[in-house]
Amino acid sequence: MEVMVAKTAGFCFGVKRAVDQVKRQIAEGRKPIYTYGPIIHNEEVVRELAGQGVRVIESEKELLDITDGTVVIRSHGVPERIYREIKDQGLDIVDATCPFVKKIHRIVREYGEKGADVVIIGNDGHPEVEGIKGWCTGAVTVIGTEEEAEQFRHDPAKPLCVVSQTTFNYKKFDKLVEIISKMSYDRVDILNTICSATEERQSEARRIAQKADCMIVIGGSHSSNTRKLFEICKKECANTYYIQTLKDLDIRRLPSMGCVGITAGASTPNNLIEEVSKQCQI
Ligand code: SF4
Repeated sequence: MEVMVAKTAGFCFGVKRAVDQVKRQIAEGRKPIYTYGPIIHNEEVVRELAGQGVRVIESEKELLDITDGTVVIRSHGVPERIYREIKDQGLDIVDATCPFVKKIHRIVREYGEKGADVVIIGNDGHPEVEGIKGWCTGAVTVIGTEEEAEQFRHDPAKPLCVVSQTTFNYKKFDKLVEIISKMSYDRVDILNTICSATEERQSEARRIAQKADCMIVIGGSHSSNTRKLFEICKKECANTYYIQTLKDLDIRRLPSMGCVGITAGASTPNNLIEEVSKQCQI
């Protein structure tokens, strides 16, 4: 059986950078170390870091009870007020927000200063989207579906800025923007802020799934980019399986001949991808 592993599978630049920043704090002997939310959407990695003393701050309320230590902000970013709260608590900040997400924070803030409202094409409630919202100073609307785009109304006298969650599906973004554009707002700036790492990962996954007899998508259960990869692959290959760890891999479901494709979300460590690949070849 042939096994095709996507070259783009696994940690993206932003996730690797965030995990490395936490590891650097550990190596420098800083204590206590916190991450604001799990550093990545991968339970195994978070557990491994917890074993080295890294604690996760789950909520703003929890943050306000901490008065000593270093807080690492994860690649998803956080609302502006969280920086103030961390400083007010007397804590050190290590900002591991991915530079591509940081760029969106800057865009929405600058447009807000010019009096513009903001539309975020993305999944409401996703930490990255919540973070972006927290940098908007005017009205902000999150649009994730065609129905939401159809229902969207905006004061034509006000400028409007449209950005995207970095991990949003490229085709879906185009479709939603097309619906908003039909409303003929004169003062709308559309900025495609989808990360190219996401787009490349999705395109490669689609290409492999088209050829594969069976497709395995690896990633944490809370990882929205892994879920999107799964959706894309499932459309092309009915035998697509979503696994979180090696334990979830049921090799009896794999074809005895043909080709197995493997891809993984941005929070999946390389060693897990290699283990799954090896297992498929046994
Ligand atoms: S997917 Fe792109 S934007 Fe998101 S963390 Fe990775 S590199 Fe940054």
